[in-house]
Amino acid sequence: MVRLRPSIRLYPSGLPRLTLSRHTRFALLLILTAAVIEVFLHTQSWAVQQPDHELDEPFYTSCQEPAIGQPREKAAMVMLVRNQELMKALKTVQSIEKHFNQWFHYPIVFLNDEPFSKEFISVMNTTVSGEARFELVPKKDWLFPEWMDVADAKAAVKAQGEAGILYAGLETYHHMCRFYSGKFYTLEALKDYNWYWRIEPDVDFYCSITYDPFVEMAKHDKVYGFTVALPEEPRTCPSLFRKIADYKELNNIPTTELWKATVAASWMPWPLRSFMGWFRHRDRSGDGWSLCHYWSNFEIANLDFFRGKEYQRLFEYLDKTGGFYYERWGDAAVHSLALHTLLPSHKVHHFEDFGYRHDWYYQCPANAPNGQLLESKLLPVGPYSPEREGGIGCRCECDGSRTRNFAGYCTNKLKEPNTARRLGMVESVRSWFP
Ligand code: GDP
Ligand code: MN
Repeated sequence: MVRLRPSIRLYPSGLPRLTLSRHTRFALLLILTAAVIEVFLHTQSWAVQQPDHELDEPFYTSCQEPAIGQPREKAAMVMLVRNQELMKALKTVQSIEKHFNQWFHYPIVFLNDEPFSKEFISVMNTTVSGEARFELVPKKDWLFPEWMDVADAKAAVKAQGEAGILYAGLETYHHMCRFYSGKFYTLEALKDYNWYWRIEPDVDFYCSITYDPFVEMAKHDKVYGFTVALPEEPRTCPSLFRKIADYKELNNIPTTELWKATVAASWMPWPLRSFMGWFRHRDRSGDGWSLCHYWSNFEIANLDFFRGKEYQRLFEYLDKTGGFYYERWGDAAVHSLALHTLLPSHKVHHFEDFGYRHDWYYQCPANAPNGQLLESKLLPVGPYSPEREGGIGCRCECDGSRTRNFAGYCTNKLKEPNTARRLGMVESVRSWFP
């Protein structure tokens, strides 16, 4: 057995100096090496399996002649919006009509927790090219759940606001996030649709979308489509990842490649790692969450999945923990972590051919060389950016010099299970600073 026999001497400066015997130094080196190997093996166990072929590619990589008159899916665009957001909502609707719906005429369902104003209804009715529907969200789907101690929850909301957590002092914001996380899917107003495309006020679409994304999603057996992925603000959801990780463990749900992609494996060696499981933002074994998620203000997704038993059971479980009010869980983080728990990766689609902006996050592809369908009489003639090698966009009006998302790191990380492409060291570091 190795005996640790440290002795303390003094440096000439008077500071104590620890000298270790050769045996002790050897033992420490051994422990350190074992720890490094252990951490390496642990992080490797979380590495995403590299598929041998691409599991998710753009449905089209150039302009198509819009297939007018072809069969449609049972689908709608959906916007939750307040009356006072009319102008911003109008901007979004004009943009989506110009770039997509003028050819496909899908209905737009407007949702509000208050009745829509006459002005809102009349402006939208004159803007949409399909049917416009104006629906009131039932109070039971919007306000606090009936079992909750409302005074206590309101106090928690106030405290979060005072702590300066993003939007967390606004009670309505909590209602909105909870609604979009679960109750939205079971709305009577959406029961006739299988697919939804979520839109929000103040959104720009930059490229012509010349094919029917609902039809393609169905054809390719997809469940969820996104444009932008980015990290969540950690103070809004200190215990969300842990709650879902516990649920996954409790229900013996096997670890998917998407779950591996979203986890940030701990760099702490065992057994120290297991102590990190005491933190509420980590899972029981001490691993964490990358905070990466799909930005949910754009979603094209399958309603049957989200209103189905598996997802709704997970939502009910989360709801019962009170985290939508005692913390400020966002619907984007909830959707993503749920998808990563329940779905095989090939069911998720990245609409990387869409130009999309909301707030200051955006993605914008370069235009496809020789793919702009110059002979088309239907596509918009307005100026669009130059074609570029590797571009996949159709008549995109944005600067196509930066084809990546704002938050490159999360996009790459969450796409890993679906692609055999891996970033080199330099690209990897660059993706942190898009
Ligand atoms: P952010 O994208 O996280 O900054 O949140 P937003 O303020 O854009 O809200 C997300 C969506 O919910 C938008 O479509 C808003 O119009 C809508 N929304 C948020 N709060 C309310 C509300 O109290 N009532 C209604 N009707 N819509 C809301
Ligand atoms: Mn928004």
